[in-house]
Amino acid sequence: MKSKAMQILASALALFYGGWFAPIRQPASISGGSACPVRTHQLISSGSIAVRWSTALNTNPVTILTQNQIAGGRLTEIEQVIAQSLAVWTGVSGTTLVPATLTSLTRTAAQNACGSDGVNSICFDQADMAFTPGVLAFTRVISTDRLGVQVGSSAVATQLGQILDADIYFNPSDSSTTYATPQALAANPKAYDLESLLTHELGHFLGFSHSAVWSAIMFPFAPAPGTFSGTRPTSQQPDAPLGDDDRTGLRVLYPDPADTVHQGSISGRILPANPLALAASPPGVTGVFGAQAVARRGRRSGCGSDNWRVELRRSGSRAI
Ligand SMILES: [Zn+2]
Repeated sequence: MKSKAMQILASALALFYGGWFAPIRQPASISGGSACPVRTHQLISSGSIAVRWSTALNTNPVTILTQNQIAGGRLTEIEQVIAQSLAVWTGVSGTTLVPATLTSLTRTAAQNACGSDGVNSICFDQADMAFTPGVLAFTRVISTDRLGVQVGSSAVATQLGQILDADIYFNPSDSSTTYATPQALAANPKAYDLESLLTHELGHFLGFSHSAVWSAIMFPFAPAPGTFSGTRPTSQQPDAPLGDDDRTGLRVLYPDPADTVHQGSISGRILPANPLALAASPPGVTGVFGAQAVARRGRRSGCGSDNWRVELRRSGSRAI
């Protein structure tokens, strides 16, 4: 079992757009009819997700270590890691998130390219207050609980939970923290694997929260320096670094109605081990707050605190 030593980020930092206007979730009449948390996701029509990355890199000290030491070659090597990490997620079968969903990666020379502007960006040299001790990278996602709103130049929201802006930040200000491309990792065993961290952050970018499953890429701790998560992607299996928990999660977030292979569900109710442990007041407390149901080869989803549902996604002939 691999070591996961350092926290990647506090959370996906979901900032609900509605919160800019009011501190509470909008009533159903405004939000479109749902009082439950909604699945956060991107629109997935062809070319609907654009990603740019900032070529401004920390130089003193160098934060990202590459095998290629030529300036242009370094950028190419980093860009390949980004493209490869995106391909990990679009390589999952049984979802509507496919390579054509993304437009070609673009670059920007702006150092502080990340912000609430409706443009999805990846930044390697931008300071942020969210970089508390131990945070290697984080993703800031703005999704909406209201229809018809937009952030900066984003699309106008047509779905609840639609992601209007998602930015990925790597910590450039901790002099003891470096990241290495897969090509450079072996020669830099004290560096964190850029591809593993980026793949994790792209999970947030796509709407994931953290997983309690140790083998999932969305487990909230980074692999130890010099190591990487799972198996490296290949052209034959681009989603190789993911766990089944991640694949199942993606199929829940981006369901493909035509998928007849990965389907089914189980459900149940979480009960307290000791009913007397429940709060006596206010009256009517019956369940467990904040419990998480985890099933191997499945992923929790649903709305409510004590009732749970795991959407069963079979892997080959094996089911939970
Ligand atoms: Zn995370």
